Amino acid sequence: MSKSLTGLGVSPGIAIGEPVVHETRPIATLRITIGSDQVEAEIRRFSTAVTTTVDRIWENRERARLQMGDEYAGIFEAHQLIATDPSFVEPVKKIIRDERVNAEWATDQVVGELVARFEALPHAHLADRKLDVLDVARQILSALHGLDLGQLDHLDRPSILVADDLPPSKAVQLPMDKILGFALETGGPTAHTTIIARSFGIPVIVGAQGLCKAARQSRQIALDAFEGKIVFDPEPAVVAEFQNRQTEYQEQHSKLLAMRAMPSVTRDGHEITLLANIDLPNEVELARQWNAAGIGLYRSEFLYMKMSPNLPSEKDHLEAYREITTRIDPFPVTIRTFDLGGKKLAREVIGSTEANPVLGLRGIRLCFSQPDFFRTQLRALVRLAGEFQPGRVRIMFPLISGLEEFRIARLLVKKITGELRAEGHEVHDSVPMGAMVEVPAAAIMANELAREVDFISIGTNDLIQYSLAVDRANELVAHLYRPTSPAILRLIAKVVAAGAAEGIPVSMCGEMAADPLMVPVLLGIGLRQFSMNPQAAPVVRALVRQLSYRESVHLARQACAMSTARDVEEFLLEKLAISLAKIKIRV
Ligand code: PEP
Ligand code: MG
Repeated sequence: MSKSLTGLGVSPGIAIGEPVVHETRPIATLRITIGSDQVEAEIRRFSTAVTTTVDRIWENRERARLQMGDEYAGIFEAHQLIATDPSFVEPVKKIIRDERVNAEWATDQVVGELVARFEALPHAHLADRKLDVLDVARQILSALHGLDLGQLDHLDRPSILVADDLPPSKAVQLPMDKILGFALETGGPTAHTTIIARSFGIPVIVGAQGLCKAARQSRQIALDAFEGKIVFDPEPAVVAEFQNRQTEYQEQHSKLLAMRAMPSVTRDGHEITLLANIDLPNEVELARQWNAAGIGLYRSEFLYMKMSPNLPSEKDHLEAYREITTRIDPFPVTIRTFDLGGKKLAREVIGSTEANPVLGLRGIRLCFSQPDFFRTQLRALVRLAGEFQPGRVRIMFPLISGLEEFRIARLLVKKITGELRAEGHEVHDSVPMGAMVEVPAAAIMANELAREVDFISIGTNDLIQYSLAVDRANELVAHLYRPTSPAILRLIAKVVAAGAAEGIPVSMCGEMAADPLMVPVLLGIGLRQFSMNPQAAPVVRALVRQLSYRESVHLARQACAMSTARDVEEFLLEKLAISLAKIKIRV
């Protein structure tokens, strides 16, 4: 019987393939006494690990040099010197010999001493050298443990990526065409890595503990991301069963694709707008394929992640945005200013080491604290808008918590518009500017906000996280992350009503907008614009065509009046069973 594990399926699909294991958590080191006859073999094992590490550092150096130029090769040269430095290597061998202990333990001891020495140095930049020593030590330890670290960017054949943690900054560097599926020990349904995978149609399972260890011992694994099931070295019958399910899923997907030209209109003639969320400019092709009526959210921070460690120049911004706007012609594009921070590259871009980054310097706060980066981006946005018809380009600010922040951002755009005009650029007098509503305070103040902004987009991924105090990327509390919470429904209803009262468009760009169970409620609440990862659009379109607007209004009223998320879930599952079955959607 094959071994299996269960996690949470967060991006649908089936995958069968060879696992590639990527572990980043600290490696625990045990002290193991060895026999005197094992000492020489242990020293050889250590030397081999050093050689492997040096080879890997060399490969990374070459890759960095080719991709980013010679100046980035220096760091790898320093790492090579550390790995082969006699003042590091010899003491490790001595400890193995004198104390008759395993190489991991001996390495750990010497690294500890070196780090303490660096920490005692008076100059901060010298003290920082300890990070290099720790980095090299980690690579040697992983080579001793037989782990394959940091080799992800040259995945050269189709594989299932298994990892303890996979931050979006790492995910965005991966060759997605080589990834059959992701199986992760950490993560959640709206973690950014999940969102990226979903837009590429890659199945994902998160929160399966013990996964890396089991995968390291397996030649093949099978993922059923509908059920959250991972099978290691599956028997032929299991492979056949998974393959059948995959075929069924693909057939259903093709049927939905065939419906892409049909309007997203309810049975009683109520039309909604389906927009696309994209993280990378080339996803525009997907948005077009699925017939999106524009880009409702371009997460511009991914441009920074892609270019890290370099920062995008005004020209880089302009070129990326121009490509998107041109390719989605004639539809509008909403570009969100960089929402870095939180879990998205804060450390790499701004050197942040906040204890609680999700409540820290992220979104608009980070934009304000880095006025030069922000200015560069805003200049590019205003110039871009000037190249197209008024209204085609819209600027959106992330993590707005109240009117003051929006007013400051708007003022900056106005000032920059004047400067650009004075420099001779052709710019529009004003560019539509909107706020993400994803902080509960902004939702509560939606009436006031709606009076001043040109549009609102509800970011439920964060709104749920902050309202329910549930980290969206933490698998331990993923079961508490519930869009069906009546508190969330009521907040959304308040924002939609505020937009309607002021006559401004309100869209939703959180993952909730694509959740088949929630779409009828959102429709009934009065939401008209749904922005989602392009892969989700066909299901939502097919579902909307099954619904009646009048009935949805009634359904939403009842759901909002309920007392618990569970009541709402049970109610919706019962009420929507027929509509969901018609389009063969499992929720
Ligand atoms: C959101 O919070 O819902 C959102 C769309 O923004 P992001 O997922 O990028 O935080
Ligand atoms: Mg957000």
